[in-house]
Amino acid sequence: MRLRNVRGSREKIAADDHVIKEPEKLKGSWSKIIGSPIHLEVGMGKGKFLTELARLNPQIEYIGIEKFSNVLVRAVEKMEEESLPNIHFLRMDAEYIENVFEQGEVSRIYLNFSDPWPKERHIKRRLTSPRYLERYRNILSDDGEVIFKTDNQELFDFSLVSIQESGWELLAVTRDLHHSKYLEGNVMTEYEERFAGQGKPICMLKTRPIREPNQEESDETGRDRS
Ligand code: SAM
Repeated sequence: MRLRNVRGSREKIAADDHVIKEPEKLKGSWSKIIGSPIHLEVGMGKGKFLTELARLNPQIEYIGIEKFSNVLVRAVEKMEEESLPNIHFLRMDAEYIENVFEQGEVSRIYLNFSDPWPKERHIKRRLTSPRYLERYRNILSDDGEVIFKTDNQELFDFSLVSIQESGWELLAVTRDLHHSKYLEGNVMTEYEERFAGQGKPICMLKTRPIREPNQEESDETGRDRS
């Protein structure tokens, strides 16, 4: 994404109530403060996707994470036009997500058109790398899931391998979301509109971590009896 310096973005972000400051202080008490269930979008960009979802689903609390003020300010400006009570923003790098959320606090994570980081030496920065999946596992609820969309076939291939190697199960996969059975209810992101408009197929997968069975619920065979 090309970044333009947006004058006054830091001040606007600091003054907006949708932006949660010092989010680490809410770790473990998110549901008491904002309610639940909580769905995150990591790498939210200008917030079109999250704003539409928040409007459609007032019973869900949406949190958008974006690391650049110049981008986040566009989402903040949308709230100046239509302030939705169930949308919240965090200006932070998702690398530190475990400092902000406790295990079980998040029920769904959306990764939309994440930066591909094509160079080998940048693999750890990809939002579907094994280290990131570990971070998500540590904040998701027992039945929590990740939904990932991209136009980038190489990143999608990488993500499928990363998911398998990290002990996650695939719940849905398509390499052409817009001509698949998963299209119903799909909300388009800014990047999705752009790429779909260029005729590019959109890949989508849904996945969740496989959890070790609780000791008390397994017998000596190791089979889960719950
Ligand atoms: N999700 C939006 C969409 O689909 O239209 C924006 C996609 S844009 C390619 C990726 C966004 O993710 C950028 O705004 C970038 O700043 C943000 N981003 C990338 N890595 C991030 C990280 N580690 N933490 C927070 N935001 C990140």
